[in-house]
Amino acid sequence: MTTSNSPDVLERKASGAAVQTIPFNRPFMVGTELDHVREANRRLQLAGDGHFTSLCSEWLERRTGSRTALLTHSCTAALEMAAILADIGPGDEIVMPSYTFVSTANAFVLRGGLPVFVDIRPDTLNIDETKIEAAITERTRAIVVVHYAGVACEMDTVMAIAARHGLLVIEDAAQGAMASYRGRALGSIGQMGTLSFHETKNIMSGEGGALLVNDPTLAHRARLIREKGTNRTDFLQGKVDKYTWVDIGSSYLPGEMTAAFLWGQMQAADEITSRRLALWNVYHDAFQGLEASGHLRRPTVPAECTANAHMYYILLPDRAARPGFIDQLARRGINAVSHYVPLHSSPGGMRFSRAAAELPVTADLADRLVRLPLWIGLEDQQSRVIEAVHEILRQN
Ligand SMILES: *Cc1c(COP(=O)(O)O)cnc(C)c1O
Repeated sequence: MTTSNSPDVLERKASGAAVQTIPFNRPFMVGTELDHVREANRRLQLAGDGHFTSLCSEWLERRTGSRTALLTHSCTAALEMAAILADIGPGDEIVMPSYTFVSTANAFVLRGGLPVFVDIRPDTLNIDETKIEAAITERTRAIVVVHYAGVACEMDTVMAIAARHGLLVIEDAAQGAMASYRGRALGSIGQMGTLSFHETKNIMSGEGGALLVNDPTLAHRARLIREKGTNRTDFLQGKVDKYTWVDIGSSYLPGEMTAAFLWGQMQAADEITSRRLALWNVYHDAFQGLEASGHLRRPTVPAECTANAHMYYILLPDRAARPGFIDQLARRGINAVSHYVPLHSSPGGMRFSRAAAELPVTADLADRLVRLPLWIGLEDQQSRVIEAVHEILRQN
């Protein structure tokens, strides 16, 4: 992943007034997080699976409709758990997009699996469901979809392909909290789904995540894996009289301080989402003219998808224009950034994975995409970003 090279400096306008650089992202604090952290301390419950972990997982189950929501210390951890639950072993293939974060692939590589990349759709930048079937071999075990920018993949088609070939579907819904597909929460549709509460996501606890276990036959094992391969949960529920090693596993659960912080964010999830959507809509309306004149392309949200405004990106018509565009924004005190280096073209990707075919859409769009600042509090300065984008693109 690339980040901006913009220096965090003050720019001076002609008037001499100092203008603060607009950062790409700024975490939003609801204001109640530390009260809950204090309460966790008062309870002297600091390890995982206490009061606040229960509140958060019940909230997730209620809001997503998933049978079992398990908090993890990151989405990466949840993906690793999903790879273990999918019984991925050496040589097993997992179909996924190349246009994603490294953890989507790494979690499976850690088990000896081979990510097999499929191209993305030009409209949503999500896995192209029409290309999945051609990538399936007798070694394929699972399809991992990534809901880019919180806009859903074409899940009806993906689920039908998986059922036809006896494959699991794992949703990397890291960016998808509060977003849905035909009324179903992202992460709750496949056999498993993973969420991220990293500082850069809409709802966050610094580091944090969750595994949604939608297939009830996987839920018991998911708890064993999360608790270091022990039956601690069964022991606490009085189902066994000894707490012991029964499976492979690791420590995937967050401490209570993280869950307490996250609880404050979850309670404000509706407000966070609507404030982000408002900012997203302002950009979208403002750039309609530039799209019509061919200066950029705006994001697409298909009718069956309810988005969560995780990000606002634009696609420039020409890849050669991007470095200069980002640079000119930086000179105006605006921090805009590119996104993924497609995994198949990264050093790790070349060692640990393969592309199912040529990935022309991935290669093209990854080089033309620019993400603009979108964070709660940007409202006062958003017009500066919009004006700068107009100014820079219209001069070319
Ligand atoms: C953020 C992100 C992750 C990783 O999330 P962490 O909680 O930081 O581990 C994985 N996949 C995608 C698509 C992401 O955006």
